[in-house]
Amino acid sequence: MSQNSLLHLNDRAGAFPPSYYAATAKNVVERPRLSGIEEADICIIGGGFTGLSAALHCARQGRSVVVLDAHRAGWGASGRNGGQVGVGQRIDQDSLEALVGVDHAREAFRIGVEAPALVRALIAEHAIPADYKPGLLHTNHRARFDAESRDYAAKLQDEYGYDQIRFVERAEMPEMLGAADAFGGTLDTGGGHIHPLNFALGLARAAEAAGARIFDRAEVATVSPGDPHEVRLREAAASGAETGVRAKVVLYACNGYLSGLEPRTSARVMPINSFVVATEPLSEERCRSLIRDDVAVADSRFVVNYYRLSADRRMLFGGGETYGYRFPRDIRAFVRRPMLEVFPQLADVALDYGWGGTLGITMKRLPDYTELGPNLFSLSGYSGSGVAMATKSGQIFADMLDGDDRDFRVMQGLPTPTFPGAGRWRQPLLIAAMSWYALRDQV
Ligand SMILES: Cc1cc2nc3c(=O)[nH]c(=O)nc-3n(C[C@H](O)[C@H](O)[C@H](O)COP(=O)(O)OP(=O)(O)OC[C@H]3O[C@@H](n4cnc5c(N)ncnc54)[C@H](O)[C@@H]3O)c2cc1C
Repeated sequence: MSQNSLLHLNDRAGAFPPSYYAATAKNVVERPRLSGIEEADICIIGGGFTGLSAALHCARQGRSVVVLDAHRAGWGASGRNGGQVGVGQRIDQDSLEALVGVDHAREAFRIGVEAPALVRALIAEHAIPADYKPGLLHTNHRARFDAESRDYAAKLQDEYGYDQIRFVERAEMPEMLGAADAFGGTLDTGGGHIHPLNFALGLARAAEAAGARIFDRAEVATVSPGDPHEVRLREAAASGAETGVRAKVVLYACNGYLSGLEPRTSARVMPINSFVVATEPLSEERCRSLIRDDVAVADSRFVVNYYRLSADRRMLFGGGETYGYRFPRDIRAFVRRPMLEVFPQLADVALDYGWGGTLGITMKRLPDYTELGPNLFSLSGYSGSGVAMATKSGQIFADMLDGDDRDFRVMQGLPTPTFPGAGRWRQPLLIAAMSWYALRDQV
């Protein structure tokens, strides 16, 4: 799969997908196209949460920053996701401790708690209309997982001093949630949910206010390392002259779309697709019967169902994944099936929007921070937890450039092994493995 097809297979060039988020986006602006050669301290490739947060934090430090996005700021996963602002890393602390030891795992957890706090702080500081709501409910679709959830909440409280999480008893769940498949779980008030595209657009505006230059329709074709690095676009300017950026530092912030441009990371960060639908607006009463406290919900399936209510009272339901790259022809029908398994009572409700997006996952579901060469970095692979962690990663990157590399080293030290297989066999093997685990959800 070439970089070109990943960026263009399912979407119209330069246009947001036809999502609920695009239909309710605020502060949408057409940004300029690059012509000629720009000079900058830092060139960031990719205008999602990673790139925009890095741009904002670097620009605030007084550095000159250029952001290039192949389509437009917020076009990628950042503008299409489930909006769940997670806490901690994508895997639980028991698994993380087993992988890297207790001290390292504690540091990674601290960063993962600071991440949603950063999202909230940025929303407040820049008055971003992101509709933040607190609360993340993790539900168990098997009763046997309840004991684990109880132990895990106790572990975070007792060993990590994290008191925002609590165990939810099976008996309490039906009052909180109208789902057909939820036993017990945990409620974490340290996280929440947002309108992700409005958050991305707000970050873009804040980065520009701090001095960053953002260019749309600027698809990077090559990066020639050097001092400075030479970044060149796929499309030359209308005049035929070369277009690109000369920068001391280059950051790849392309997540699921990275592989064609930077093949060295593609064995560790692989793309998968996920899908979301938005129902028609529902009555206040019906909303409360579905999710009483307006929290975000995610279940314990391998192919996770994630859902929440929008500010205008729609059910936004994410479910289903594909590991080939083309989106299903009828995304609404594709997601309707898992939605009705969870909420059979929504059978009469129309789906107004359905859309898909591509994200990067790693073998251990931990972010991939890579130093590819002198002043050449890549941040990606958030594995479905990038709303908070991609935003935090941009800040960590800026701090590292500014001389405080403590958190960068913590994250860089997390293992992101290569996926099994080599060359063209890697993708079929990923599909086979993911399909196997997805099948286990059903039995
Ligand atoms: C459907 C879906 C649901 C999700 N739900 C959640 C959720 O609820 N909670 C959560 O935490 N995470 C979720 N995620 C994951 C989360 O959205 C991502 O981890 C996060 O947005 C990654 O941000 P990013 O900036 O690294 O990448 P992206 O937002 O994907 O941005 C990458 C950008 O790079 C640009 N780009 C790529 N190649 C080039 C190139 N050659 N030249 C120029 N530009 C280029 C693209 O145009 C794109 O805009 C979900 C993802 C999807 C797809």
